[in-house]
Amino acid sequence: MVRLNRENRSRFYRVKCPDCENEQVIFGKASTVVDCIVCGKVLAEPAGGKARITAEILSEIE
Ligand SMILES: [Zn+2]
Repeated sequence: MVRLNRENRSRFYRVKCPDCENEQVIFGKASTVVDCIVCGKVLAEPAGGKARITAEILSEIE
């Protein structure tokens, strides 16, 4: 099933840092760079109104 409004949802993602395996929740429309709270690695960065997530996504949270 195609969800046309997917891009507009205010969604959170549970992600895992690829460097230290810390898990944290980030906002899917982050407007600033999101760093890992443990090691400081960039987990997401803003890209045209939504976040480009560079960490491993474990699950989506609505
Ligand atoms: Zn980390």
